[in-house]
Amino acid sequence: MTCAVVVGLGVWGRFSASAGQAVTDIDWPDVVGGGFLLALAACSLIALLRLRASRATFWLIFSGVSLLCAGLLEDVLDEFRVGAMAYGSWPENLALMIGAVLTGLGLLRWSRQTHANSSEYQEMALTDPLTGLGNRRSMEQALGNALSMSLASNSALSLLTLDLDHFKNVNDVHGHDCGDEVLRTFAGVMQQACRSSDLIFRSGGEEFLIVLLGADLNHARERGENIRRRLSDLYFTGAGGQKFCVTTSIGLTWLGALDDVASLRRRADQALYLAKRSGRDRIELIGPDEAHRLPMATASSVS
Ligand code: GH3
Ligand code: MG
Ligand code: MG
Repeated sequence: MTCAVVVGLGVWGRFSASAGQAVTDIDWPDVVGGGFLLALAACSLIALLRLRASRATFWLIFSGVSLLCAGLLEDVLDEFRVGAMAYGSWPENLALMIGAVLTGLGLLRWSRQTHANSSEYQEMALTDPLTGLGNRRSMEQALGNALSMSLASNSALSLLTLDLDHFKNVNDVHGHDCGDEVLRTFAGVMQQACRSSDLIFRSGGEEFLIVLLGADLNHARERGENIRRRLSDLYFTGAGGQKFCVTTSIGLTWLGALDDVASLRRRADQALYLAKRSGRDRIELIGPDEAHRLPMATASSVS
């Protein structure tokens, strides 16, 4: 189509030009300006070959820029054929007009697609593909924001760290795929037990972290206990058809006035470590002030 337009414009120019007359009043600034724009359009055409766009968008921009090239080329040639007083012929003006519209539409489509793609990539970069939960990177960001928001508004914030018990055995006995299924199910259990304002992340392997915005110690403990109980009530089926249960240990802490992200996480990890050491399948808590430490809820005392 582009070739046809260029050839058409050439033929039109050849017959519409004042044939045989010497052209003496060439407008050189116009020639240089037109030539520059033509070179720019031609470069855009080359750059377009590297553009990551859908087929329809590519052809829209390609046709538009080609028409612009053809119109500009005709404009420059006119200077030599007709002279400085030349007015654009109608095919030339039409080519420029349609070219500009198509290029504009194509660029609009392309920018929309690019925006949609970048949102998708951003989402992928922050999501754990196995469970669909936020990954470690999004956890660091969210935790920092939640902490500064809670400190600024003087509202409560609690943190749960959860680690599946003896998970290596699940993989060893029932296979890695079955282990993956357990991780996915556990993610669903946490989502069901939490409010929509709670932020759940897979911090790595079989470890998870939940940020409970506006939740004090009692609410957070209730939420953690709910998760622990729901999981221990479930039966999984191994590759060979055997039924088995999985439990989780949970560390709980809550925000103190002097806390930062590192101190909050450290305390939650210490509480989790305590839960592991105390026999697993339980919640342990450590507050900002060790004097506020509460009695531990054991698996047997709760169920
Ligand atoms: P503990 O009760 O002390 O936490 O023991 P554990 O066996 O759960 O802990 P350990 O750190 O020894 O083992 C964690 C296991 O988690 C080992 C690793 O293969 C497994 N794991 C980590 N990520 C994945 C995953 O994405 N899928 C599966 N199936 N297993 C995973
Ligand atoms: Mg574990
Ligand atoms: Mg672990």
